[in-house]
Amino acid sequence: MENINNRYEKSTLGLSPLKIEGVKVIATSPEPDYSWVFVKVLTSEPGLYGLGSANNCYLAWAVKSAIEKHLGPFWVGKDPDRIEDLWQSTHVRSYWRNGTITNVIQSALDMALWDIKGKRANMPLYQLLGGKVRDAVPVYAHANGETEQACTENVQSYLEQGFRHVRVQMGGYGGGGFIPPGEGSRPKTGYQGQVFDEQLYVETIPKMFRHLRTQLGLGVNLLHDVHEHLTPTLALEFAKRMEPIRMFFVEDILPPEQIDYFRKIRGLTSTPMAMGELFTHPHEWRSLISNRLIDFIRCRISAIGGITQAKKIASLCEQFGVRTAWQEGGENDPINQLAAYHVDLTIPSFGIQESNHFSEKIHEMLPGTARIHDGYLYGSEKPGLGIDIDEQLVKKYPLADNYQNSDWTTVRGIDGSLVKP
Ligand code: MG
Repeated sequence: MENINNRYEKSTLGLSPLKIEGVKVIATSPEPDYSWVFVKVLTSEPGLYGLGSANNCYLAWAVKSAIEKHLGPFWVGKDPDRIEDLWQSTHVRSYWRNGTITNVIQSALDMALWDIKGKRANMPLYQLLGGKVRDAVPVYAHANGETEQACTENVQSYLEQGFRHVRVQMGGYGGGGFIPPGEGSRPKTGYQGQVFDEQLYVETIPKMFRHLRTQLGLGVNLLHDVHEHLTPTLALEFAKRMEPIRMFFVEDILPPEQIDYFRKIRGLTSTPMAMGELFTHPHEWRSLISNRLIDFIRCRISAIGGITQAKKIASLCEQFGVRTAWQEGGENDPINQLAAYHVDLTIPSFGIQESNHFSEKIHEMLPGTARIHDGYLYGSEKPGLGIDIDEQLVKKYPLADNYQNSDWTTVRGIDGSLVKP
């Protein structure tokens, strides 16, 4: 009688070699904030394909053309089982590497290949990445408000929904420190819009958090995103003022251009630092992690090269006691979210995952989109990434021609000069 081992050998040896037969670019703007570019990697096995996210909403049209004209044709005919080799060869394919366009394209391919491998194995992807090291993925919610009390009430509503971690921003994007349009001492004929004032910021935000702690106690993990707005010495001042709040983390206290200052900040304050939303190159994260100068790495999975690169960063973090907090952001998509989810389930260096909510319309367009229950993210448990795309529905929402979606990145000070976003 045939034993189990023989049966297993037969079934694995019986898998026929695969080839990439085609690469389809699916670009869509189903809601005003979304400019999504996905790839569908088709294989020689009928019905077997993988999905990946090449989301860069600020350069979506360039990403689309780069896949269609440059990198997609390079992948056709290759073996989709050789994920690492295809990652490496795509990485050097356009010679100059680690660009914001090439990275998301590489990510899309990487996610699609992992998706294919998971489907072949008939397992959710996290099984192929080593299996679960946690039961579900805790996520943090985004609270905001115009006043201290409004912020407190918003945090409270998330606690009631089961979240244990809440990021709090006061006064909209960037989280405070803004002087309203036309106010303050400005050059006569200059910029009259809303401006950022870092002294105001360093004064008002720690005060708001003190209010939160007084109202809510220590039972909530509080997070805040500085959005790279501060100059180095005021960043240090801000971190010191946040010390009594006992933050879970303070994010992006400096722009990526000034990361050498983390050594100084680290030496003078115990406020936990999260950094890296804008990172795209290993030289940006490597020394911060290996010198233990930050507590959390905040890259976006699709901006750094996908699941393959995220697993490598997570391993580096594990060695040095740094934790992950993969970035999401309002314009991100469900496929990238699931890539993060499968990595999160399998890495000991996991810290927290940023949350992202999608409307029922998006769930219909991308069946298998993860859902949040009681502060935890859950995938579909289907093989691979566990998500599909309804291409008929996509046709109703073609990629928008909307260059103004980048307008928020232009932040100015009171003299009209640019502040790093
Ligand atoms: Mg951020």
